[in-house]
Amino acid sequence: MADTMRHRDPVPVPQQQRTDEGSPPLISYVLPVYNEVDGIRPFHDELTATTATRPEFDYEFIYVNDGSADGSLGILLDLAKNDQRVRVVDFARNFGHQIAITAGLDHARGDAVIVMDTDLQDPPRVSLEMIDAWLAGAEIVSARRRTRRDTPFKRATAHTYYRVLRRCAEVDIPVDTGDFRLLNRRAAEELRGFRERSRFIRGMIASMGFEQHEVLFDRDERLAGETKYPMRKMLRLAADGVTSFSTVPLKLITRMGFISLGLAMLGILYAVTLRLFFPEITVSGWTMLMVAMLFLGGLQMLSLGVIGSYVGRIYHEVQQRPLYIVRNVISHDKD
Ligand code: UDP
Ligand code: MG
Repeated sequence: MADTMRHRDPVPVPQQQRTDEGSPPLISYVLPVYNEVDGIRPFHDELTATTATRPEFDYEFIYVNDGSADGSLGILLDLAKNDQRVRVVDFARNFGHQIAITAGLDHARGDAVIVMDTDLQDPPRVSLEMIDAWLAGAEIVSARRRTRRDTPFKRATAHTYYRVLRRCAEVDIPVDTGDFRLLNRRAAEELRGFRERSRFIRGMIASMGFEQHEVLFDRDERLAGETKYPMRKMLRLAADGVTSFSTVPLKLITRMGFISLGLAMLGILYAVTLRLFFPEITVSGWTMLMVAMLFLGGLQMLSLGVIGSYVGRIYHEVQQRPLYIVRNVISHDKD
């Protein structure tokens, strides 16, 4: 199939998705990088080899260096030196994966923007399938994992989490789908308008609507290095997903309140009955007292914690700080 497309014939890009009539459509790749020193060069080689099979498009590769502490930046600068299409957005510190994607999107100018990881877990060849789906009219294409080769623990927790999130979220967030996505120009423009601080990009994309399409793929193992999502970051992302798209935890507090109120009523009835009709045994009941006190204490702490996490989000929002700070943008363009 690639052969028939090797020459630069007009590509059937839907009219509203074109920028400039004269030039071929531009595909932007948004590529977050955090300490990928051993993997980044093989990744770039594979990506450019893959995109070379579709020369009817122009490409730009936007690497966002998310405050890497290893030599990743040096390698990225080298890539930029040898390839005009590479641009490097260098963060002043580590801001996290979701923010790095956001910065990449802010800098992307393509007719279609593809977001993918740089550890070869999202295979570049799948992005060509996404481009085909886009040409066929899809406005957003997400890559859903048919299988994944992560640790059993990560697989199990991710599997459960996506399903719990789906049940409580107010928008329809696709299961088993990370941030590997293609957005057309319109969708990318809309997404740039979402400036919330605690970000769960896959949810934000789902909430936008548009014509959404799915391609299935088998997720590979990480090529080099270790996951940059330790337990702590995973939990934070998971919590952001829930608090960004659902107030179910707050509603649960109310529900728990009603239930404990009901139990308290029964307890009161029991205590008063005992006091009125069996005054000789009212001194006992120490166990009951402890159970009730500890249970309610725990419930209150939990509820405060849930409310606190929403208050924390509000606090971060009202501070209105910039989402990220860029040290430098390395690019071959004059603008
Ligand atoms: N990443 C990032 N900033 C971070 C953590 C990760 O830019 O703080 C990048 C990382 O370089 C990779 C992608 O985000 O390209 C996904 O991270 P990782 O592969 O560690 O996550 P996993 O695939 O294990 O969920
Ligand atoms: Mg990975």
